[in-house]
Amino acid sequence: MARVTCRCGRVLWNGRIPNDIEFTVFSDARICEIEDHPPDFCSDPLYFLSDLLERADYEVWRCPACKRLYMFENGAEQVRYVYKLEEA
Ligand SMILES: [Zn+2]
Repeated sequence: MARVTCRCGRVLWNGRIPNDIEFTVFSDARICEIEDHPPDFCSDPLYFLSDLLERADYEVWRCPACKRLYMFENGAEQVRYVYKLEEA
């Protein structure tokens, strides 16, 4: 569990499970590499396995108020990158 104050002032906390702040993100290439599957197999989204969550490279949280993303390196408790939403 951790608590982060977003730059908008909102306090983010992942102590309630499930929550809508904490996200786990994998690239397709990374999942395929971890599972050691051929590329054709990896094009099927149904092969996702929950134990992959523990091997993610990054953990990403999204502030529901301002939509900034906070990226943590896997296992770290300090924010590594902050992404501010920009309108396209
Ligand atoms: Zn915010």
